Amino acid sequence: MTTRIALIAHDHKKDDIVKLAGEYADTLKRCDLLATGTTGARVTAAHGLPVERMLSGPNGGDLQIGAQLAEGRVDMVIFLRDPMTPQPHEPDINALVRACDVHNVPCATNISTARMILDVLTLRMKQRV
Ligand code: PGA
Repeated sequence: MTTRIALIAHDHKKDDIVKLAGEYADTLKRCDLLATGTTGARVTAAHGLPVERMLSGPNGGDLQIGAQLAEGRVDMVIFLRDPMTPQPHEPDINALVRACDVHNVPCATNISTARMILDVLTLRMKQRV
């Protein structure tokens, strides 16, 4: 079954997630991607990767991803949070990260962890070929 990955980045982290998606484009194009609205738009515009876009985070996008995750429809989350800026939707952010912990879904909240997760995924794909 195709790995389903959720991508989310706060505004100061959007350039980072676009760069990351470019580095791992070969891996990500073999996955089903979903994302909060603006993050998804940026990733698709930069790399042509198809992304199922939810609402923007502050409008409920994190909650939409969390709901899918709770139903077992998300395999991993890359959530580049901005730890330096207060977010209006902090409760939604916490709910999504909590849902990852409740359902034991890998959740990378910084680039180093995201790279480790994507490296493992890349390796697994190569082993499968
Ligand atoms: P966005 O949402 O991708 O629509 O900007 C992410 C967020 O800021 O929570």
